[in-house]
Amino acid sequence: MIQEDLFKKLIAHCKEYGFIFQSSEIYDGLSAVYDYGQNGVELKNNIKEYWWKAMVMLNEEVVGIDSAIFMHPTVWKASGHVDAFNDPLIDNKDSKKRYRADVLIEEHIEKIKAKISKEVDKAAKRFGDSFDEQMFISTNPRTQKYNQQIEEISTRFIKSLEEENFEDIRNIIIENEIVCPVSGSKNWTDVRQFNLMFDTKLGSLAEGANTIYLRPETAQGIFVNYLNVQKTGRMKLPFGIAQIGKAFRNEIIARQFIFRMREFEQLEMQYFIKPGEEEKWFDIWKEKRMKWHQAMGFAPEMYKFHEHDKLAHYAKAAFDIEYKFPFGFKEIEGIHSRTDFDLSQHQKFSGKKMQYFDNETNESYVPYVVETSMGLDRTFLTILSSAYREEKLENETRIVLSIPEPLAPIKLAVFPLIKKDGLPELAKEIMDKLKYDMNCHYEEKDSIGKRYRRHDAIGTPFCITVDHESKENNTVTIRYRDTMKQERVPIEKLQNIIKEKIDLKILLEKL
Ligand code: ATP
Repeated sequence: MIQEDLFKKLIAHCKEYGFIFQSSEIYDGLSAVYDYGQNGVELKNNIKEYWWKAMVMLNEEVVGIDSAIFMHPTVWKASGHVDAFNDPLIDNKDSKKRYRADVLIEEHIEKIKAKISKEVDKAAKRFGDSFDEQMFISTNPRTQKYNQQIEEISTRFIKSLEEENFEDIRNIIIENEIVCPVSGSKNWTDVRQFNLMFDTKLGSLAEGANTIYLRPETAQGIFVNYLNVQKTGRMKLPFGIAQIGKAFRNEIIARQFIFRMREFEQLEMQYFIKPGEEEKWFDIWKEKRMKWHQAMGFAPEMYKFHEHDKLAHYAKAAFDIEYKFPFGFKEIEGIHSRTDFDLSQHQKFSGKKMQYFDNETNESYVPYVVETSMGLDRTFLTILSSAYREEKLENETRIVLSIPEPLAPIKLAVFPLIKKDGLPELAKEIMDKLKYDMNCHYEEKDSIGKRYRRHDAIGTPFCITVDHESKENNTVTIRYRDTMKQERVPIEKLQNIIKEKIDLKILLEKL
């Protein structure tokens, strides 16, 4: 399927089947803000549970917290967000559209990379089995020229960003003849910095209003509670604090559905360590996090690491885990080595000591931090993108979401074959027994075939049909989503058959 089509279909599917709705849709929506529907919220909760258990339950030294969205404004001064959490913006004067200058340049680089791939594909066809890709790329004059262009643009761009030389960033755009995708023109404004934090007022104006921010990341809630958790939990290094919660960023280019939203959810973990051990822990968490994504069982080539060229103001090293979305490889999680930057800053701004006394070495120091920071909404989108399939059957096409069973929104659908002869009653009786163990759904409308299709489309792994034979011998037909196989099983065995397949343990044991 063409990837652009797949993306459009996914967005339509999310709406049609109650996964995701545009926020305030009846008022024509609010840009880059989305609501999760009845099936979306279940999938989202299951992802959160999978993450929480992987982090907090499987790692004895990791504990969780739930800090408030509003924090003292000085937190964001200390963290560097007031001064440095900016995007460089540029406007096209003809289309009046606003862009992130860094994104325009990165997309331009991607286009040059695509030209290299094209040359490689052509040559591979020409040379057949004897084709040596690396050799070709390093010796072919065209690919050499493209690579040189990429190198020059990237080096200059990183330098300009670091020096905050916005005039040169604009010059890069002009000199490379980057045009506005909407107007096609090169009529650009200057590049300006734009802070991504939303602010609001605390208290009534009469009390003397104070500007506070909606947190742009959950991490700072962990840093400011470091001492509380360390002391009350009597935690010894290394230890981690995990948190799931909403974050807010005034994203300028809010496209690509739930990939870039203004209100989104993060799952973050800060791992506090002894200084000097950061490389070891960085590598450990990098691998652990990749494993978490891959344990869901989708094609491993859909994921890759990407090392940051430009580091955030706090970072010593940073890798992203990227997923191959229908619109290309993009970040879903960041693993960052944050040194003692945050705790030292809070120590400085609050005047409270953030030091840890190490019993073994008898010294005090500010711990270093390795952070794992995943976006819930982007992870949600990876699952839907990988799970969505259109299968050609004899007379129709079935759309199926092959979501890993433990994460599926509804685990079991229960159907009476017809709406009479006591079949609905028996179906509900079965459901009443099973509903304590799994999310069940009862349906009696339409043909069994149509009911199967509806549940395929939301990823329900098991459907059972109660028919007249069920009343005679206490058996039902169970039908499996992925294989469409059906078999007759005793009602009393249902619980065991299904329970073991929907157990999160299946994913957790792979970690
Ligand atoms: P990007 O470069 O795509 O803006 P980022 O590097 O700013 O992302 P981080 O600050 O590292 O992102 O945030 C950690 C995670 O939070 C990201 O990997 C992503 O999954 C998620 N995230 C960040 N911004 C958004 C957003 N606007 N909408 C949805 N998820 C987001």
